[in-house]
Amino acid sequence: MKNADSFLTDADSKTFDSEHRRKINFNIGRYNDAVAKGSTQFENHELGRQRASYLKTQVIENLDKYLIEFEANFTRNGGKVIWARDANEALSEIHKILKEKKTRSVVKSKTMTTEEIHFNEYLEKNGIESIETDLGEYIVQLAGQKPYHIVTPAMHMSRQDISELFEKKLGIPYTDDPQELTLTARRILREKYLEAEVGVSGANFIIADVGGIAVTENEGNARLCTTFPKTHIVIVGIEKLIPSMTDLGLFWPMLAQSGTGQQVTVYNTIFTGPAKQGESDGPEEMYVVLIDNGRTNIIEDPEKRQSLNCIRCGACLNVCPVYRNIGGHTYGSTYSGPIGSVITPHLEGMEKFKHLSYASTLCGACTSVCPVKIDLHNLLLLNRNQSVKEGLATKSETFGFKLWAKAMKNRTLLNLPGAALKNFMVGFIFKNSWGKRREDVHIAPKSFQQLWKERRK
Ligand code: SF4
Repeated sequence: MKNADSFLTDADSKTFDSEHRRKINFNIGRYNDAVAKGSTQFENHELGRQRASYLKTQVIENLDKYLIEFEANFTRNGGKVIWARDANEALSEIHKILKEKKTRSVVKSKTMTTEEIHFNEYLEKNGIESIETDLGEYIVQLAGQKPYHIVTPAMHMSRQDISELFEKKLGIPYTDDPQELTLTARRILREKYLEAEVGVSGANFIIADVGGIAVTENEGNARLCTTFPKTHIVIVGIEKLIPSMTDLGLFWPMLAQSGTGQQVTVYNTIFTGPAKQGESDGPEEMYVVLIDNGRTNIIEDPEKRQSLNCIRCGACLNVCPVYRNIGGHTYGSTYSGPIGSVITPHLEGMEKFKHLSYASTLCGACTSVCPVKIDLHNLLLLNRNQSVKEGLATKSETFGFKLWAKAMKNRTLLNLPGAALKNFMVGFIFKNSWGKRREDVHIAPKSFQQLWKERRK
């Protein structure tokens, strides 16, 4: 099946899956409560959004300058920077390091960029074990799935689902006690930190002025991933830059509040290179792999550039009525929800993923919650516009809209009597695109012009 077809089929079945809906509503309901409480920490949240948006826009407009500044400072700290144009380049460079270190296993803390380059699959093919250590990621890895959500990867699973999964995959007696389940995962993962030759993490922010990366997490697993193994590799998209360490004073609480409703996330770490002489903690070597993978395509377009301001808080997913009905896996892309629908066509191909830009009610809820004020719903319209300009609309869609435009621009045609015929024509043209669950369009028996004339008489 083509992507768009499978998207529609999956969306249809998920939307009517009441158990799925119950789990998502339960988890998003808890998120909403937390966000409402968390927002009280800001005296003027709107001003914070404006400032964050301004800063990220400045960075994206001057990305070349900030990237070079980061590289110079990070290299001075003893780290090494690798530039990767795409997933293949990133994987082959990382593979060289893993080979050199004779790596048999890698521990990873949550990073969506590695999902984007299919890192785990690549390691598996090359006989290297890759263990996710974030609890949510560990759960979806055990289940053989992809993350369902960019912040809460196992949002679609209930406690019972996880209990059954642990019983089946880890061979432990069934328990739905969250503490016992967490302790089981912790016991297994602790061993993995000790065994792994290499630790891999993402970065929430790349800090230009100190040559560091900032990682935010709630479980402390990123710290274990990056301090036990002798080598730390950071895999991150080039857009994650912020100019200065002082900007974290704004971005950390903004991210925490929008992402989970916390005032600030539990563990916030800044890594500025490998351990220095005399330091007891930290890796011997640290690499940062800066990945483009389609991002510069977005930068090329001044109107769509703002989508790179995203700090991956996940707030737009949680408020999106489409996401809440069809769920994260239906998108079939690394990034789901409104931001996924905006950027995926540019990262993975407009032809393959243009349908995501149509999966929106254009209600604007996403835009209203975005902490960096990305105009998400209008960017979806721009994507639709681009796909039509590139000639990617289907023949029937093009024909239907041509006919529609002709009729709408012609007063005589519009005034022709015969609502039944008009209804038939509209029904025929939009037979497939209007969808089987919408009511048919009914054209009124008399046009406004006719009614007006009658009234004036
Ligand atoms: S687009 Fe905005 S709301 Fe959505 S994940 Fe990115 S920063 Fe958060």
